[in-house]
Amino acid sequence: MLNLNPNDAVTYTPEQRRAIDNLMANRGSKKGKELWKKTGVDDVLKQTKNSIRYHLLNVQKVRCAYCECILGFGITQIEHIAPKWKFPEFLYEPLNLVLSCSDCNSLPKKGKQITIEGDAQTNYTDNEFKYVHPFLDDVDKEIKYRTLFRIRIDYEHCTEKGKATVDMFHWDTTHAEMKRFQNLLVRTTSRSRRKMIEEILGFKE
Ligand SMILES: [Zn+2]
Repeated sequence: MLNLNPNDAVTYTPEQRRAIDNLMANRGSKKGKELWKKTGVDDVLKQTKNSIRYHLLNVQKVRCAYCECILGFGITQIEHIAPKWKFPEFLYEPLNLVLSCSDCNSLPKKGKQITIEGDAQTNYTDNEFKYVHPFLDDVDKEIKYRTLFRIRIDYEHCTEKGKATVDMFHWDTTHAEMKRFQNLLVRTTSRSRRKMIEEILGFKE
C-alpha cells in the first residue's frame, strides 16, 4: 500500500468548493452513487473529478494506492476509501479519495466493504478505520514483508489492522506475490532485477 502524505490529498479551487458545497447542501435523500454521477451534467463538478484524477495520478506516481501496481493507461477509477454508497458525506473529502486498480476494488476484495467502525463521525479523521488507511496510517508499521523487495508478506508481524487488510485484499497469496513481482520488474534496473530474482528463488520458508 502506498504511504501517502495527508498534505498531498487533493485540494479544491473556491469555484469547485462552491459547487461541491451546493451539491451536498441540496442532496436530499440521494444516494452517494447518484450524487457522484451528477458530475456528468455539471461542468464544474465534471472538471473537479478530472482535476482529482490528474492530482492523484501525480501523487501516486500512476500506481494503485492499495497494491501499488501500475495503473492501466486511461483507467483511472476514483476510489472512495469510506464507500460512497454508505458514507455520501465523504464523497468529496480529500483524505477519502485515492486511485485504485480494478482488481483491488473488485467485489471479493475492497468492493463494497464498510471500512469505518460503527457510525460515521462528522470529522473524517475522527473515524475508526477497520483497514490500513493510505493517508492516515503509517503503512510500513502496519504491513510487514519477509523480503527486502516487499514481495512476500510477513503475516505474523503485521498489526491486527494490517492482517485485516492483507486478508481483505488477498495479499498473502501466490497470485498477489506474482503481481508485486511483475510490477517491481517493470520499475527496476537490470542489476536489481537480478538481485530480486535471486531473492525470490533463494527464499526459504
Ligand atoms: Zn490495486
